[in-house]
Amino acid sequence: MGAIRFDNVGRIYGNKQDGFEALKGVELEIADKEFMAVVGPSGCGKTTCLRFVAGFDRPTSGMVSVDGVKVTKPGPDRAVVFQQFALMPWKTVRENIELGLRNKGVPRAERRERIDRILALMNLTGYADAFPHQLSGGMQQRVSIARAYVLDPEVLLMDEPFGALDAQTRVVMQEELVRLARRNPRTVMFITHAVEEAVYLADRVAIMARQPGRVKEIIDIRSIREAE
Ligand code: ADP
Ligand code: ADP
Repeated sequence: MGAIRFDNVGRIYGNKQDGFEALKGVELEIADKEFMAVVGPSGCGKTTCLRFVAGFDRPTSGMVSVDGVKVTKPGPDRAVVFQQFALMPWKTVRENIELGLRNKGVPRAERRERIDRILALMNLTGYADAFPHQLSGGMQQRVSIARAYVLDPEVLLMDEPFGALDAQTRVVMQEELVRLARRNPRTVMFITHAVEEAVYLADRVAIMARQPGRVKEIIDIRSIREAE
C-alpha cells in the first residue's frame, strides 16, 4: 500500500494558452515502501510535484495516483513534513503531535501510548510538555517528523525537511530518519537540493530538470550500495 505514480503529468500556472508551463510530461513511479529522493535546481517543480501527491494541488494534464487511485484531495493515508516546522507555538510537543491522532478518532489511551513511542524513537523523551520555542531547531524538526509518523500514514511527503537546519544538526537528523525509516518503512517522497543527502537517505534518486520541469533521470542507489 502506498505506491505513487505520475502519468504524463503537466502543470501550467495561469491560463492554458499563454500561462507558465511549470511541468511537462512528468513520469515517476515510487514503489510501496520505497524511499525516493527528488533533486533538481530551484524552480524545476519539486514542490509542485509533492503538492500533487499531498492533494494540495492538481495537475493541468496527466494524472497522479496512489495505489491506482487518482489523487484529488488530502487524506489520512498521506502526511506532509515541511521545511518550516509549522508547529503550533501555544501548544506543547505532546499536544502538537496529538492533534492528528484526535482528528483520526484514536482513543485517549492509545494516543498516549503512540506518542510516547514516537517520542522515544525520535530522542524526544522528556520533552512532551515543552513548548516549541523551548526547543532547538533540530528538536522542533524532530517533533514535526514525529507528528507525521505517529499517524502511521502509507505515504510520507517531505519537502526540504532539514533545509533550515545547520550542517551538524542536519547530519544528526539524517541519521535519525534512516533509523526511523528502517524500523518503520513507509513510502517516502523526499525533496532536497542537497545531492549527498539524497544519496545517503534514498533507495532511488529522481533528478529533475527545468523549463519545463520534468524527471530527467532516475538513479538506483541500492545497486551502488550493493556494489560497494
Ligand atoms: P521547486 O520546488 O523545484 O523549487 P516549485 O514547484 O516551487 O519548484 O516551482 C516550479 C515553478 O513553478 C517555478 O518556476 C515557480 O516559480 C512556479 N510556481 C510555483 N507555484 C506557482 C504558483 N502558485 N503560481 C505561479 N507560478 C508558480
Ligand atoms: P522551494 O524552491 O523551496 O520549493 P519556492 O520558494 O520556490 O519554494 O516556493 C514556495 C511556495 O511558493 C511554493 O509552494 C510555490 O507554490 C509558491 N510559489 C513559487 N513561485 C511562485 C510564483 N511565481 N507565484 C506564486 N506562488 C509561487
